[in-house]
Amino acid sequence: MYTNYKNHLDSLLNEIRKAGLYKNERIIVSPQGAEIELNTGQKVLNFCANNYLGLSNDPSLIEAAKASLDNHGYGMSSVRFICGTTDLHKELERKIAEFFGTEDTILYAACFDANGGVFEPLLSEEDAIISDSLNHASIIDGVRLCKAQRFRYENADVTDLEKQLQMAQNMRFKLIVTDGVFSMDGNVAPLDKIVNLANKYNAIVMVDESHSAGVVGKTGRGVTELFNVKGQVEIITGTLGKAFGGAIGGFTTGKKEIIEILRQRSRPYLFSNSIPPLVAAAGIRMIEMMTETNKLQDKLHFNAEYFINCMKKLGFDIKPTKSAICAVMLYDARLSQVFASRLLKEGIYVIGFYFPVVPKDQARIRVQLSAAHETEHLDKAVMAFGKIGRELGVIK
Ligand SMILES: *Cc1c(COP(=O)(O)O)cnc(C)c1O
Repeated sequence: MYTNYKNHLDSLLNEIRKAGLYKNERIIVSPQGAEIELNTGQKVLNFCANNYLGLSNDPSLIEAAKASLDNHGYGMSSVRFICGTTDLHKELERKIAEFFGTEDTILYAACFDANGGVFEPLLSEEDAIISDSLNHASIIDGVRLCKAQRFRYENADVTDLEKQLQMAQNMRFKLIVTDGVFSMDGNVAPLDKIVNLANKYNAIVMVDESHSAGVVGKTGRGVTELFNVKGQVEIITGTLGKAFGGAIGGFTTGKKEIIEILRQRSRPYLFSNSIPPLVAAAGIRMIEMMTETNKLQDKLHFNAEYFINCMKKLGFDIKPTKSAICAVMLYDARLSQVFASRLLKEGIYVIGFYFPVVPKDQARIRVQLSAAHETEHLDKAVMAFGKIGRELGVIK
């Protein structure tokens, strides 16, 4: 029996390869950081991690994690409601709520689970979910698990959002859901306008701050800070796997009744293991660091602006961005791959994206800035981009 199935999988894999969509993984043998070492022995500057605040290998987070191993052990061997809740889990939930100015927080093993488990317990057939067309896969999957009627609006397009809200007018409850920062362009959701429309049409609002928490807004509180709408968004989801330390874990934070229902009904919370105490301990330290000072957020903002200005001066076409994501537009799929592999030879690790990850003829190299980068790292990357850009005729 397996022979037939194996042949089927082999031909599927061949199709993926033939389409040029096969994903190969590079192997890192050092900690995550600005400079990393690959198993080939090559040392490269990393511009493709979500390590926005440079905390993935932060000594004080490592210290907090180590200390918790001694006083709280390694694993919980339980879901939260049976025997998987420690004082550390509760403290981290409280700290995340304080950070975002919300009422309560529920932790998950990942933001994928937070989004997967948020819609189904809260909404049913009589309700409507109005979702941005470029929302993350985990939002799309979460919406699929829910019986509410689905409406989709064009990316960050408030005119289309209003049209969809009018179509959903007669539904009982309406939820607008959007990513805070969209990962391919680095643009932000127009949250001030979204909140206005939500008020006008009596809808509630959910924002996924995965790429914006710690990054966007003067103190890194995300798009609710950037647009000055703190307290006007009922549900925020986010990850501990990006700016917030980069390990693992996700959360939903917001109105206390919403969080209370999720603790009773959200399936990834009820039927999946509790995060290890060491992740909670490091998470607590991480929020403390970001509350004590804005040093990391400021450095990230400086780095992003510095890099983007240098690239524009060289003549590169950069997508408008309000985050630490910088899309260097090349428009041609093959060129994006050649450009990225030439950069790797120069010691700059970035990824070229093309259809179907981005629209046809919108191929680009995505650069992600980090507070871990020093100015000399940025200069080296800009120099390499300039050299290869001229060689490949992208800039003059
Ligand atoms: C990365 C990401 C997620 C998934 O987060 P994990 O914690 O890694 O599961 C969810 N939503 C958005 C918008 C993301 O960028």
